[in-house]
Amino acid sequence: MAKGTIDVKNERCKGCAFCVEFCPPHVLALSATYNARGYHPPELIDPERCTGCDLCGLYCPDFAIHGFPLPKSSAVAKSSQPEQPSADTTATSDGIIAA
Ligand code: SF4
Ligand code: SF4
Repeated sequence: MAKGTIDVKNERCKGCAFCVEFCPPHVLALSATYNARGYHPPELIDPERCTGCDLCGLYCPDFAIHGFPLPKSSAVAKSSQPEQPSADTTATSDGIIAA
């Protein structure tokens, strides 16, 4: 499960590849597509290994990319669980009555 991902503003990119060079797990590459300025914006080539560290964003001179962490799936799963009765409550067929 990926820990993070990126957001790329393609039209701001000038294809300098600083983000590609400085990404610690090397999960970026310049895409084959062109933006309106004639440059190749970056894309994730191994999304599962992006950590969301935002070093790509720190090195981008044009604020064209930033990385961010994804919500932890365990936190999402836990918050979607129904609440359990606490130890000082008694469950009956009609509902839950505090002890
Ligand atoms: S957020 Fe970090 S790991 Fe993800 S692409 Fe940017 S530099 Fe690489
Ligand atoms: S560092 Fe910024 S301008 Fe350079 S290729 Fe990456 S996104 Fe584009």
